[in-house]
Amino acid sequence: MTEEAARTALLRFLNSKCCYGSKAAGELVIQELKQLTVYRYRLETFHESRLSEWAFEPFPPAGRPRGAAPLPGPPRLPAPPPFRERTRRLRLPHAALVKECHGCHGHGRSKCSVCHGAGWTRCVTCKGSRRSLKQQKRCQLCSGTGRKRCNTCSGRGSKTCAMCQGEKKLQHFKQLVITWRNNVFEFVSAHQLDLPGELLSRVNGENVFRDENVQVYPVADFPEPEICLASQRAVAEHSAAFAASSRILQQER
Ligand SMILES: [Zn+2]
Ligand SMILES: [Zn+2]
Ligand SMILES: [Zn+2]
Repeated sequence: MTEEAARTALLRFLNSKCCYGSKAAGELVIQELKQLTVYRYRLETFHESRLSEWAFEPFPPAGRPRGAAPLPGPPRLPAPPPFRERTRRLRLPHAALVKECHGCHGHGRSKCSVCHGAGWTRCVTCKGSRRSLKQQKRCQLCSGTGRKRCNTCSGRGSKTCAMCQGEKKLQHFKQLVITWRNNVFEFVSAHQLDLPGELLSRVNGENVFRDENVQVYPVADFPEPEICLASQRAVAEHSAAFAASSRILQQER
């Protein structure tokens, strides 16, 4: 860090604030610049977890005729590139059953929620009084009926069941949900600067050490003992959190 760079940084900071003057900073005499080394340790763990759950779809499914051959088993699924979060759902074969749709009780249609099954709604102009409010004449909009045909269901009082899409039946099946997630542990070594740690963690610095593997070990023999301790904590925390419920695929430190 040179005096020039320090002054430029200070001026840039002042310019980012609407009402700060920069005169003092421009004329400021810098007497001393103290060098300070701060280490940052970062552990990134990419892990995969799997669970199975029941799901359903209209039966027969759209685009697939009744009696069509079942879908092939779950394809071999490659993991996404490391550290890229993703969720995939895979249908499991041989675990399907067809049941009456519980959304419409097998009718294929459900009651219109706008007119509550009546097929008509109250006229908005006369509010059902059949007369126009100002002139006390017959309401023109509803021709004096006080009602309007429900637009949502076109007067039928019901609409195609959204759950089974009118098919009356649902096919329940098991699916495998695979989730790839990335978790980060970050630690910034102690410093005498009165600065929030997250600001320091964004500072560009020199990369002292980088390692990537299926599982990394805690850092040992680093000159800053705090970093060794932080890395021990990071590795232990991540393996406790993810090793039991999921599978660690890749770690980077
Ligand atoms: Zn309706
Ligand atoms: Zn009316
Ligand atoms: Zn239904």
